[in-house]
Amino acid sequence: MAAAPHNPPLSVFGATPDELADRLAAVGMPRYRAKQVLAWVYRRGVIDPEAMTDLSADDRKRLADHVAFVSGTLVADRLASDGTRKLLIDWSVAASSSSSVALPLADGATGGPSGGDDRTECVMIPTESRRTACISSQVGCPVGCRFCASGLGGLDRNLTAGQIVEQAWRLAWMRDAHGEPVGLTNLVFMGMGEPLANFGAVTRAVEVLTAKWAMDLAARRMTLSTVGLPAQMRRLAEADLPPITLAISLHAPNDELRREIIPWADYVAIDQLVDAGRHYFDRTGREVTLEYILLGGVNDRPGEARQLADVAKRLRSNVNLIRYNEVAGLPYARPDGDAVHRFQRILRDRGVNVHVRASRGRDIAAACGQLRHEHRAGSTKPAGVTN
Ligand code: SF4
Repeated sequence: MAAAPHNPPLSVFGATPDELADRLAAVGMPRYRAKQVLAWVYRRGVIDPEAMTDLSADDRKRLADHVAFVSGTLVADRLASDGTRKLLIDWSVAASSSSSVALPLADGATGGPSGGDDRTECVMIPTESRRTACISSQVGCPVGCRFCASGLGGLDRNLTAGQIVEQAWRLAWMRDAHGEPVGLTNLVFMGMGEPLANFGAVTRAVEVLTAKWAMDLAARRMTLSTVGLPAQMRRLAEADLPPITLAISLHAPNDELRREIIPWADYVAIDQLVDAGRHYFDRTGREVTLEYILLGGVNDRPGEARQLADVAKRLRSNVNLIRYNEVAGLPYARPDGDAVHRFQRILRDRGVNVHVRASRGRDIAAACGQLRHEHRAGSTKPAGVTN
């Protein structure tokens, strides 16, 4: 049966093999073509139907007409001195498949439409042993943390599952200095947006990202970072998904201070987060992590470190401390090194497993929402926050 002509193209990045096969069959192609197409996309990094040489000319044409490959346009590609690389993608105008195969290799903007606000960021953070993709789940963010560039404009919309996976694919298939694909070892949902507020798309993306036929990332190397929606945390624990790591963006060790810096804390108490986090651990066996952005003079004092240690011990979680990066126009400061070390020592002395996450890519505004914020504001100053 032929597909109705008005059917929008199916996003290859959001589809399962069965869904892709159904669509191909509906337009007169053999179902087994789905496996071939997915192998081109995920094993060879090819998203131009014309380059899929084991398909007939007719099938290549039908594929191009009925399946969408990339759905965004790369509008900025920046390389920091420490190797961190950040892409800004505009979803308002789809790129042609062929233009997006050749992702730019060099530092600098790449042209393309940039006037709208339908843009998100994704970041590649390389270390000696890891290549971690940090991806966005929404355009803008509904949470509105007072210190964050992404929260400044509120939520524009949810990303689709395909757009979420596409970010990881783009990062994985970027070329290194030798022309080889960079590849991914780890992935974090710590870019723009609150992942659990886009539950359906994010969980479908996790399914694709961990699938053998697609990105084949190990669940234990994936982290979803949430500001804390207890009902959705429980739903994630019950979901039929590989057990990824859950990180709670706590950022304050008591409800009063948390409400000052995270508007959604008005609706959720830390006790509820601890209960939901323990439930996640009980169901999945994955330890929950607490993320804590240190804001100079706001939440980085010894009393707060002691309170945070109590929360961490109740949750049996480890703690990641992140030094804030200033955002132009926001009244928060980066804490000094002494305050960070003192804070960490207090937690350690209380038996908490605590790490200070390295600030990466400060010279390219690598943290959440900064690059988009800069583009929107027309500023040249690296500014922003680590989510
Ligand atoms: Fe949203 Fe995270 Fe920014 Fe808060 S820190 S506004 S949750 S993107």
